[in-house]
Amino acid sequence: MRQIELSVTVLYMQKHTKRAAFSLAARSPAYRSSKIRASRVLAITAPLTLFPSLFPRACFEEALAIQKAYNELYAAIAQDEEWLEGIVDELIGIDDFVGKLWKTHLAVKKEGYVQEYSLGLFRSDYMVHVDPQDSGAKPEIKQVEFNTIASSFGGLSSQVSSLHSYLALVDAYPAAAASLRPEPNKDGLVTQSPLPASKSVPFLSSGLAAAHQAYGSPKSSRPTCVLFVVQDPERNVFDQRHLEYSLIQKNGIRSFRLPFQRILTDTKLESDRNLLYHPPYAPSEPYEVSTIYFRAGYSPDDYPRSEDWQARLHLERSRAIKCPSILTHLAGCKKVQQVLATPHSPHLSRFLPDEAMAARVLKTFAPIYPLDQSEAGKEARKLATDPSTAARYVLKPQREGGGNNIYRKAIPDFLKKLPESHWPAHILMEMIEPPAQRNIILRNGEVQSGGVICELGVYGTCLWKNGGNDGKGEILHNEEAGYLLRTKGDQSEEGGVAAGFGALSHGYGK
Ligand code: ADP
Ligand code: MG
Ligand code: MG
Repeated sequence: MRQIELSVTVLYMQKHTKRAAFSLAARSPAYRSSKIRASRVLAITAPLTLFPSLFPRACFEEALAIQKAYNELYAAIAQDEEWLEGIVDELIGIDDFVGKLWKTHLAVKKEGYVQEYSLGLFRSDYMVHVDPQDSGAKPEIKQVEFNTIASSFGGLSSQVSSLHSYLALVDAYPAAAASLRPEPNKDGLVTQSPLPASKSVPFLSSGLAAAHQAYGSPKSSRPTCVLFVVQDPERNVFDQRHLEYSLIQKNGIRSFRLPFQRILTDTKLESDRNLLYHPPYAPSEPYEVSTIYFRAGYSPDDYPRSEDWQARLHLERSRAIKCPSILTHLAGCKKVQQVLATPHSPHLSRFLPDEAMAARVLKTFAPIYPLDQSEAGKEARKLATDPSTAARYVLKPQREGGGNNIYRKAIPDFLKKLPESHWPAHILMEMIEPPAQRNIILRNGEVQSGGVICELGVYGTCLWKNGGNDGKGEILHNEEAGYLLRTKGDQSEEGGVAAGFGALSHGYGK
């Protein structure tokens, strides 16, 4: 493989650089290895494409236009405990992680929640679908999933547009560019003007700022902060840093990063459940935490010890505003998306009373089936166990963070090995087949050229006051918050950048 060097912004960090303000970087996957540490290379360029990818502009605009409705939908779901309980009930004996999250919610509920606000920094992911049966069909967006926790890469995505516009200005790779941009293809993917740069950094940080302000003043005159709860080691540190810088520079709000495993040692709950954080190097006075931003805690791997569940409970009990609350976290289960996407289901219109918007949201759902004992479930079981039909589907457990799905022909064998009682912990989704295009991906210092497909993620920020007995909550802040365009090889099923499959991209649209 040809080695390539990009001299734009800070692409990797030296060992002694504590802060890489403008980096477009992620820590090396081998960061945990002491050999790699000894080599002093602590960070590498986040996987990215050398050129903007193509995404139909009408699809892009539609995805952005419906984001506020999606925010409203998930804010409403997160407030409907009874409805969510119905979903969780089907999973509780067969999905240990969901069961533990629910148990944590019940423990806090028993004592009484002391915070009525919730914050969502969401990301709704889409691929472009073109109906193969209809020769005149226009491309349309189909939702891959809706993320309610730790939606990543909002920090790096605007950096990618700067990188691409710089590379275009200096005409960095003319021969490669010429070879990649052939005739307009039949799917309407032609090179036109660049999509607007993503505004995700200022908008995501202003979502956090809205929660911080809603929290109000602390009891005494002690300082307040936003707490980013992160993994350790955290590969996405540079992505998160951009939000941290924007929070302080634009909003004057101090934030700290706390590894999940240090929650119980570095934070304290007062008797009225204010959450106090003692930064290791700060003045003796602790900070009162206004908002907890979870960038960890979404995967069972974040909870190897029983103390880790105590730590989650400790945070959930606190008066800090959670991003997300535990019910909002649960609303991100793939099962919720499946139930919403069920044809003729009454749920969508109940949560989203604006009929025109509900119709636009409905159009984004791809076919998704349960694997339970319902009629639809039995039908889906047949599809999933027959290799000739399974090849059109992806099987998903209720997990986040990439690398958990089973694809196409691997589904029947996977199900054979899984006790049937556990099948309903998964949903079966039709594969979306976006039109292929060509691009060059830079990953781990190597370039890979070939067929790629795109996944668009639209960020949304929403702050709401949970409904009381009347069930009517109030939305205080609701914004579309920029986007992320990821590109992956057309032979790869997964697309996660951190999971090692996708690459960050920026787009051109017709
Ligand atoms: P996660 O929460 O782990 O990111 P996703 O549902 O996003 O789970 O699935 C991971 C990846 O799998 C996606 O980024 C996408 O590349 C691929 N994928 C998931 N669902 C579909 C689908 N219906 N059609 C095509 N690709 C899909
Ligand atoms: Mg996800
Ligand atoms: Mg995903």
